[in-house]
Amino acid sequence: MTCQSNKDLQNIIDEVRPLTEAGVVADYIPALAKATKNDLAVAIYEANNNCLYAGSYLKNFTLQSILKVLVLALALQDRGVEYVFERVGMEPTGDPFNSISKLETSIPSKPLNPMINAGALAVTNMIRGESDAEKWNRIISFVKCLSNKKNLSYDAEVATSELKTAWLNRSLCYFMKQHNVIDGDIEDLMMVYTKQCAIEMNCFELARIGAVFALNGLDPETGERLIPIHIARICKTFMVTCGMYNASGEFAIKVGIPAKSGVAGGILAVVPEKFGIGIFGPSLDKKGNSIAGIKLLEILAQQYDFSIF
Ligand code: GLU
Repeated sequence: MTCQSNKDLQNIIDEVRPLTEAGVVADYIPALAKATKNDLAVAIYEANNNCLYAGSYLKNFTLQSILKVLVLALALQDRGVEYVFERVGMEPTGDPFNSISKLETSIPSKPLNPMINAGALAVTNMIRGESDAEKWNRIISFVKCLSNKKNLSYDAEVATSELKTAWLNRSLCYFMKQHNVIDGDIEDLMMVYTKQCAIEMNCFELARIGAVFALNGLDPETGERLIPIHIARICKTFMVTCGMYNASGEFAIKVGIPAKSGVAGGILAVVPEKFGIGIFGPSLDKKGNSIAGIKLLEILAQQYDFSIF
């Protein structure tokens, strides 16, 4: 399966690239600050296994929060819907992704949803495995299947950089442990979480994951079921309600498709039944989404009438 360069996509990239000047690359994880601000790439993986791209689509980047959707899909398979949502809620939040405030005020005391850090840490804690090594192996094997990237790995420098500085995420964990939302050793959990955030791939591979969701959990090449249909639906619903941080409402109006972004500048987007989209643009807007990536999706959505609404 190869990807073809596409002139229309290239024109959109050329149009939106100047926006990268207005954003900033994430630097709260020190290793992410090394990103090249004006990088931009898009790949569209069609359900019939055609793929189009423009920009530096083979450049690797770390998925960061995009993993929240994938680990949720695995935890739901491991534990079932009831178990997961007894511990993590289903409601969007207008707060930033790493906010701690609602943890204290929510009744019962559990994270509002799995797309914010508190919820994602709790979901990672639910992954089955006798040891943390086994949990990690199960996560990376699952993402390997979805992306069909045989040598999938993680960026050790980014993972270590986050592990050394993730004081807020640690405090979310300690709070949740106090309230019996999570169990086990917090440093072990942080190790798995920072490694999963640092899993790296390119836009083409990310778009393929989008195609799996577009097909409600089927592998676009083999037709094999990789995610049960009811779980693929739950994931896509969270992507619509909470996938673009506290800009999810505006994104639903302007673009109108399930999507999840990460602080390294990736966006995983899904046009149901049609295709998956992978975007990389590390220059972020004030809410933490790829500034040019969002504009690119807005233009595509208008030109091709993507909105699911
Ligand atoms: N590793 C990041 C964190 O937990 C992921 C954040 C993101 O991409 O939103 O802070």
